Amino acid sequence: MQEILQIPVLNDNYIYMLHDCLSLETAVIDPALEQPVLDILAEKGWQLNFVLNTHHHWDHVGANLALKEQTGCKIIAAASDRERIPGIDVGVEQGDVILLGQHQAQVIETPGHTSGHVVYFFAEDQALFCGDTLFVMGCGRLFEGTPQQMYTSLQALKALPPSTRVYCTHEYTMANAEFALSIEPDNLKLQEKMLAVKELRAANKSTVPTTIADEIATNPFFRVDNISIQKELGLVGAAPDVVFAALRRRKDDY
Ligand code: ZN
Ligand code: FE
Repeated sequence: MQEILQIPVLNDNYIYMLHDCLSLETAVIDPALEQPVLDILAEKGWQLNFVLNTHHHWDHVGANLALKEQTGCKIIAAASDRERIPGIDVGVEQGDVILLGQHQAQVIETPGHTSGHVVYFFAEDQALFCGDTLFVMGCGRLFEGTPQQMYTSLQALKALPPSTRVYCTHEYTMANAEFALSIEPDNLKLQEKMLAVKELRAANKSTVPTTIADEIATNPFFRVDNISIQKELGLVGAAPDVVFAALRRRKDDY
């Protein structure tokens, strides 16, 4: 069994803590702040073994050095971004496998938001930690990568098992849902999801995780082959990465 804790921090970030009940190993994903992580370690009596970073932005690596100093944990992140990850010990790349006890995580490179973005996919646990690549009904902004890169990255995630739970780093769901509905107002699944999301947010609850199946049904960035989206963008029959680029630009200006 692997326990997954979600810690809301800052305005809209989530830190995730993973704990393997057999080996007692613990990992934290994208720690923006150290104190909430240290509090949980103390409360649960856990020891921190690993920090896993998805990319170099401060709200994902902010607590790296403090956690390393206070717990002696090892820091794992994209090898290609070694010089921008504070305290990095292990550089990983596409196809590498990380172990938390017996739980295996595959590393998938997903450039686009930043050039050195990676995600961690626990196949047996059906859990994906995807940083700022895929969001509920949205995707990350293109700060360093090209639309083609991000399109390819998202296609790799779309191909994961539909039941995979998707743990992204930000609660951007409400704004993403509004944009998605502006693009695809007649999508019934999307309308339903909007209602569910509104209820959760009104109760101050998290909308994360989502699933790959839900995203295939509702996320416009997963649906660029859909004719009504192509019509909305005036790009019927265009190559999917071209539709994706136009959609991402539309969201940037939304
Ligand atoms: Zn970021
Ligand atoms: Fe972020």
